[in-house]
Amino acid sequence: MSNIIIVSNRLPIKIEKANGELIYKTSEGGLATGLSSVYKQGKNVWIGWPGIVLDKNKDKNDVSRDLKDENMVPVFFTDSEIEMFYEGFSNATIWPLFHYFNQFAIYDQSLFDAYRKANQRFCDSIVEVAEPGDIIWIHDYQLLLLPEMVRKRLPEIRIGFFQHIPFPSYEAFRLLPWRREILFGMLGADLIGFHTYDDMRHFLSSVSRIAAIPSTKGVINIDSRHVEVDSFPMGIDYQKYSDAASSPETLKREVDYRTSIGKQKLMVSIDRLDYSKGIPQRLMAFDLFFEDHPEFLGLVSLILIVVPSRDNVGEYKRLKEEIDLLVGKINGKLGTIHWTPIHYFYRSFSLHSLSAFYRMADVALVTPMRDGMNLVCKEYIASKLDQRGVLILSEMAGSAKELSDAILINPNDINQIVEAIYTALTMPPDDQKAHISVMQESLKRYNIHHWVKIFMDKLNEVIETQKSFATKIVDKNVMKVFKDQYDKAKKRILFLDYDGTLTGFHDLPSKAKPDAELLEILEKLANDKRNKIVIISGRDRQTLEDWLGKLDIDIIAEHGVWLKEQGKKWNTIFHMRNDWKDEFRPIFESYVDRTPGSFVEEKDYSLVWHYRKVETGLGELRTRELASHLRYMASNKNLTVMEGDKVVEIKNSEVNKGYAADKWLMKDKYDFIFAVGDDWTDEDTFSAMPEKAITIKVGQISSVAKYRIESYKLVRNFLKYLITD
Ligand code: UDP
Repeated sequence: MSNIIIVSNRLPIKIEKANGELIYKTSEGGLATGLSSVYKQGKNVWIGWPGIVLDKNKDKNDVSRDLKDENMVPVFFTDSEIEMFYEGFSNATIWPLFHYFNQFAIYDQSLFDAYRKANQRFCDSIVEVAEPGDIIWIHDYQLLLLPEMVRKRLPEIRIGFFQHIPFPSYEAFRLLPWRREILFGMLGADLIGFHTYDDMRHFLSSVSRIAAIPSTKGVINIDSRHVEVDSFPMGIDYQKYSDAASSPETLKREVDYRTSIGKQKLMVSIDRLDYSKGIPQRLMAFDLFFEDHPEFLGLVSLILIVVPSRDNVGEYKRLKEEIDLLVGKINGKLGTIHWTPIHYFYRSFSLHSLSAFYRMADVALVTPMRDGMNLVCKEYIASKLDQRGVLILSEMAGSAKELSDAILINPNDINQIVEAIYTALTMPPDDQKAHISVMQESLKRYNIHHWVKIFMDKLNEVIETQKSFATKIVDKNVMKVFKDQYDKAKKRILFLDYDGTLTGFHDLPSKAKPDAELLEILEKLANDKRNKIVIISGRDRQTLEDWLGKLDIDIIAEHGVWLKEQGKKWNTIFHMRNDWKDEFRPIFESYVDRTPGSFVEEKDYSLVWHYRKVETGLGELRTRELASHLRYMASNKNLTVMEGDKVVEIKNSEVNKGYAADKWLMKDKYDFIFAVGDDWTDEDTFSAMPEKAITIKVGQISSVAKYRIESYKLVRNFLKYLITD
C-alpha cells in the first residue's frame, strides 16, 4: 500500500526549549488541521523544519525520536541556513516578487544557492523515508525546486505540489534571474495546484514563454511525462470556527470586550505584519471615511490586530513604524475621552479571542494588496452564527473568487474603500443575512477537508491517466504483437494521417513535402498487394496529388471532402453549399489584419486561420476571440468550428474524416485494420474504426485511440518494422 509523505517548510508543531527541556506545541493552523487526517494515518509522515535551531546532536536525536511517534520527520537547519534560505531567498526574493512587490525583492546568488541547498536537504530526507509507490505532497514557495530534485532521485514516485501564495504574471516572474530553475523545479511534480485559476493561468503562461513548453487545458507534456496544473481554492475548518463562535469561552470574552469598548459599531481587521496586506491604505481609508461621513464620529471603532512577523527585516520594520504612526495620528486627531477610533494590538490572540472579535464585528475589513487566499475573511463569515455582518474584501485576495457576495474593492482605491465602509455600516440586516448565508453555504461545502480530498483525488486521477498512457504506449512488445497480426493478415487497410503523423509540422510546403525515407516506406507498403493504404489528411487535394499521386495509394483530402482511389479521378461524396464562405471570409481577414504572422487558408468546404508564427500568447488570445465569434455566427448554419494545433477552422458539419473512412471500410472486408493520427480531426477516424482495429494516437494528449506513440519518427520506425521480412 502506498504511503503519503507531506512535505512543507514547517512541521505542524512548535518546539521551544525552556530550562533545558524541549516543549512541544501542536499547530492549530488550517493546513495542519486539514492534513492531520492524512499524516497521522498508518505509515504516512510529515517532513519539515521543526521551527527551532538545535546545535547539539543529542537534542536533534531527541526531537527526531519524539516526533517519530507523531508521524513527523524533522529537517534541521543552522541559524545561518535559516537566514539565507528562509528569511533570505524565500521571504526576501520569492515572497515580494510573487506578491508584485518587486521593489522589495533581493536578487542575490548566494541566497539562491542556500535555497537550493536547503531544498536538497528536504530531498535527502524524502529519499530516506520514501518507498516505491508512495505519494509525496510538497507545499509552498520555500520548496519550489524540490519536486524536480525528488523526481531525479526517485523517477517513478508520484508527486503533488501546492503553492499557497500567488503565482505572478509572466511579466513579473520573468524578472527572477533563476526563473528557469524555479519553473523546472516545480514541473518535477505530476500535479501542480494553485488557489485560483489566475495563478494557474500565470504559471502556464510562464511555462510556455520561458520554458517554451505548450499546454492544453492545464496539461503539460514534458520529457514524455504528463503534468497537470489545476486550481484548488483552500477552505477553512468551518466546523471549528462555527463551534468556537458558540462556545462559552468566546461568549465570555465577548461580554468582557464589549464592556470595555462600549456600544459603538465595530470593524475588525486582522493580519500578519506584511506589506502585501495593505494595512496603511486601510487606515487611510478609515481616516478619510470620517472626513466624508462625520456623522459616524464616535459611533464606530476599528479593532486592528497586527500579528508580529519578520519584524527584524528592514521592510517590515518600516511598515510597523508606518502603521504605528498612522494609528497614533488618527487616534490623536479624532479620539475623545469616550471614544477610541482604533483599538490597535500588535500581538496574536487565541482562537476564542479571535472568535469573539469576529462575532462582535459589524464589518470585517480585509483589503490586501495581494494575497494567495486569505483565511481571515473566511473565518469571519463562519463565525457569524446570527448572519449579521458585512465583509469588505479586496479583489486581489484569492478568496475574492469564491466570496463574490462580499463588497469587493480595489485596495488601491481609497475612495472606493470609504464608500464600501459606508455601504457596509448602513446595510439593512436582511441584505447582510442574504449575503452571509450564500457565503456560509459555499464555505461549509468547500472546507479544508474537502480541499485535501479534491487535491488527493485529482492526484490519483493524474496517476491513473499516466498509468493508462504507460500501458497503451507502443513499445517493442506491442510492436511485435502488431507485426504478428500484420503478417498473418490477408487483407489489410491502413489509414495514415499526414501532418504530425508521417512528418513533423511545417508551414512551408517545401519542408512538409514527403522526403525520400517517407516515400520509400509508403511505396513498400503500397507494393504489397495485401495492403490498401489510405492517406487521410486535412490538406487540399492538389497538394496531396502533387506529393503522393504517383504512389499506388488512396487519398482522402480536406478531412473527407475529396476522395481518390488509385487510378481513378478525384471524387466528392458531398454536394454541399459553400457560399457561406463569402460571409465568413471578411471575419478571417480582419483577424489576419490584427494578428501579424497569421494567415487564412481556403479549402473547398472550409476556411482555416493559421497562427503558428504568431507571438506566443497573442495567437491563443485571438483564437478564443475568433472561435467564439465564429461559433456565434455559425449557429443554425450546419457549420462546425474546430480549434486545433495552431489553427481555427470552420467547415461544413458533414465534413469529417470518420465519415470518409467509413466509406472505405464498407467497400471490402479486412482482417487487419489500422489507423494512426495526431490531432483532433483524427479522433473522428478512430471513432469510426471497428472494435478489432488498431488505433494509434501520436503524442500525449488523451484520445479515443487504443494506443499511443511519441512522435512521427517512431511512426515511421513502426511502419518500417511492419514491412520487414
Ligand atoms: N491568526 C491567529 N491569531 C491571531 C491572528 C490571526 O491564529 O492573533 C490566524 C488566523 O485565524 C488565520 C491566519 O492566522 O487563520 C492568517 O491566515 P491568512 O491566510 O489570512 O494570512 P497569512 O498570514 O497566511 O498570509
